[in-house]
Order: sequence, then structure tokens, then C-alpha cells
Amino acid sequence: MFYADLHIHSRFSRACSRDCDIEHLAWWALRKGITVVGTGDFTHPAWAAELAESLIPAEPGLLRLRPELEQRLRRTSPRSCAGAVRFMLSAEISTIYRGGDRTRKVHHLIYAPTLEAAARITEALSKIGNLASDGRPIIGLDSRDLLEITLAGGPGCYLVPAHAWTPWFAVLGSKSGFDRVADCYRDLADHVFAIETGLSSDPSLNWMCSSLDGYRLVSNSDAHSPPMLGREATTLSCDLDYFAMAEAFRSGSGLAGTIEFFPEEGKYHLDGHRKCGVRLEPDESDRYGGICPACGKPLTIGVLHRVAGLADRPAGYRPPGAPGFTRLVQLRQVVGEIVATGPASKKVAAEVSRLVGALGPELGILREAPLADVQRAGGGALAEALDRLRQGAVLREAGYDGEYGTVRLFAPGELGSGAALFDLPARELPARDVPGRDAPDRDAPAPRLPRMTFRRPTAPPATSRRAGSRHAT
Ligand SMILES: [Zn+2]
Ligand SMILES: [Zn+2]
Repeated sequence: MFYADLHIHSRFSRACSRDCDIEHLAWWALRKGITVVGTGDFTHPAWAAELAESLIPAEPGLLRLRPELEQRLRRTSPRSCAGAVRFMLSAEISTIYRGGDRTRKVHHLIYAPTLEAAARITEALSKIGNLASDGRPIIGLDSRDLLEITLAGGPGCYLVPAHAWTPWFAVLGSKSGFDRVADCYRDLADHVFAIETGLSSDPSLNWMCSSLDGYRLVSNSDAHSPPMLGREATTLSCDLDYFAMAEAFRSGSGLAGTIEFFPEEGKYHLDGHRKCGVRLEPDESDRYGGICPACGKPLTIGVLHRVAGLADRPAGYRPPGAPGFTRLVQLRQVVGEIVATGPASKKVAAEVSRLVGALGPELGILREAPLADVQRAGGGALAEALDRLRQGAVLREAGYDGEYGTVRLFAPGELGSGAALFDLPARELPARDVPGRDAPDRDAPAPRLPRMTFRRPTAPPATSRRAGSRHAT
């Protein structure tokens, strides 16, 4: 069983950290417990050159650090994180074009098993658009034609629609997408077998749409800085092999599940206008006729509303055989809440490093570390926080129109001052702490369902910029 995070960006993509280089990405993959990381941005000339210089072939279709870099990685990474790190050649392409009578803007993830195959795709795309200005290039190309170019890269090359539900840039997006994935790729639609759920939706929402039954659901971080790796990820039980992974995405066999955000945390979950500070539940924005009550312009319709529009099943439906999923927040957020600082503070970084040293990679801490061990290493508050997280007992404030939502483990005042954080009284450990009980990727428990009876929202906040709620991405 291993984790893959196949949508990330290099430092050559707009708004990305300068640390998005191969060595940092490998270091953070180890620290998170991710085995296969997308390279991102393989169509960018400078990044492609760096990949060719830093990586060598490993298992079929996968790449690894060259020996000097691997040695340096092992010297600098925590001894408790001894797993393998592999890279899969990946890129995200933004297509923008007229389709039907509308402007279409769709983001796609494309994958290749060799540098040569990637180079063939790059060569074809370089004749159509400028690939050097942005690691995630914007190309005036029909999505169907991008798929054709991808498939022509050679055996094993495939395409996955990225963050399928986001309003502005996605195959099913409310602003510039389609109502059916097949309408986007037309005669080549049979070559698309998976979609990325994106941060603002999770499988439970996708399962409500029977039109998506033919697609496997995958999740990735879309990280713009290395510490964001693995905030969403896909769990696989197939061989560590590009072609086996592609087959798992195609057939579902070997696809064990996904790590998800609480979808409310995603930045396009509800409807609204960020600039106007207006955030609305779907029924509320319907009452306003889809028009912002503050500025009179059309609202940005979020993922929850869009899913409701395309859904033909009730909330809670789960297709037979669908892999499970686990909702998580990042360990730095959990610790940040406990120490009462932002998740990127030095204090949090030091504490998370200490925890990783004691307990192993972050995803393992979040999902399966026995709470007794967590309590010993990190204190009662952390054990309580992870118990709540694993049960989905979190406080959520939903994101909208590009503004991230927030997920908290403790109600205001529950923790007292930050100093008392790791000193909550010892807790009774629940029976579910029995070793093995929380092993990853067992059939996940029935997911907590999204609220599909839309409650009337509290009055939209006059200004809803919530400092600190936005990640550095
Ligand atoms: Zn994108
Ligand atoms: Zn407005």
C-alpha cells in the first residue's frame, strides 16, 4: 500500500514557492509518507532540463533521484522516514478555447512514462503555445486535441481532468466547463478513465452523479510549495510501477482510496463573492437568482451547488465497490491550532519535526498512529485532536469564491492558552485504539455526509477576510 500525489507544481509555475525543486519535493515526500510524487510542469523547458539532470529510471515508468542526490536526501531527512520516493512525469495544462457558443477553460493533468514520451508531448504543444512562460501553460487548444496529443506521446500516456468541479477552470466547472466529461473530450472520451475530485469536493459528492460512475476518483495536493504535498493524495495497492498505477486508475483494481480535505475547506465549496464578503449556501444564492446582493453581478457558484445541479442521486449514495476515502487536515494545522500560532510558524515546524522523529511520516501520524503513542509523544491535546479528526468531529467554516474555508478541532476557548496545549489531562483511550483498528485503507467507514439540506446561512459576513485562513499556495 502506498500514497501517490500526482498533481504538484515546480518553481517555474506562477505563484509557486522557490523551494519547489526536486530535492525539496523529495524531502517533503519522505516526511509526509508519500511514495510517488508527480514532477509537475514537464512541459517547461528549464524544469524538464532539471528533471533530466536529477532523475534516473527506476521501476517501469517511474524515476528516482540520482545516487548523489539520494545520498544527500538520506543524510538530511528524519531517520523515521525511510521510505522510497519515486517521481512520475506529470504536467498540468490549461486549455482555453471556444466550444459550442461558450468560452471553455479546462485544466488537465497529463502523464508520461519516459522523458522521451514527455518530450514528444512538449514538442507538439510547443507549436501551439508558449511553454516557457509558465510551468502550467495556458494554451488555446480544444481539450479533445490536448488529449489526442497526449495519447500520441506513446504507450501509457494518459490524461486526467484536474480538480473537476472548480468553477473557472474545470471540466465540470459552473463557469466554463461542461455538464458531462464526455462532452469535453468527444470522440476520444473513452480514453479518459479518472477525474481528480479537487479540494472542494470529495467522493461522497461525486457519487451523487451517476454520470461519473465510469470514472475512478483520484486526489492530489495541487501543491504550490513542498509542505503542501499530500494534503490530498491517492492510496494504491498495486505494484510500484507507472503502468500498474495507470491500470489501477483505469480499472479500479489496485486503487485503494483517497485522502481528502473536508470539502468545506476547499476554496470553492460554497457560492459567493470574495470581494464583496458574500458567502451563500446554494439555496440562498438561488433565492438571490444567482446575483450578488452586494454588487449585483453574477455570483461564483461553488462546487456544492454545482454538484447539486448535476446530481441524480441522494446524498449518501455509494456506488457498489467504490473505494473509500479519509478526510484529513494537515498535521501542521492541527499542531498550529494547539500551539495557537499559524500553521507555518517556527514553533509548529519544530513540534511537527519532533513528532515525525518520534512517530514517523505525517500521514501515518494523522491516520494510524495509536493514540496512546500520540499522547506520549505529543500530549493529550494532540491525541484528542487526532481522535476527533479520525472521527470527522471537526468544526468547519466553508470556503467560497477563492477563499479557503477553515477546519478546526477545538471550539473557541476549549484549549485555554497555547502554553497549556500539550498538557491536557490524560485521556481515556477509546477501544478503537487497538492496534490495527486504524490501519489505513481498510474499507473506509461510511463517510460523513455533506449537508445537503441547506440550512439558511447566518447573515453573510460584511467583510469575511479571515486572516490566516489562506494557505501559502
Ligand atoms: Zn489547475
Ligand atoms: Zn458581489
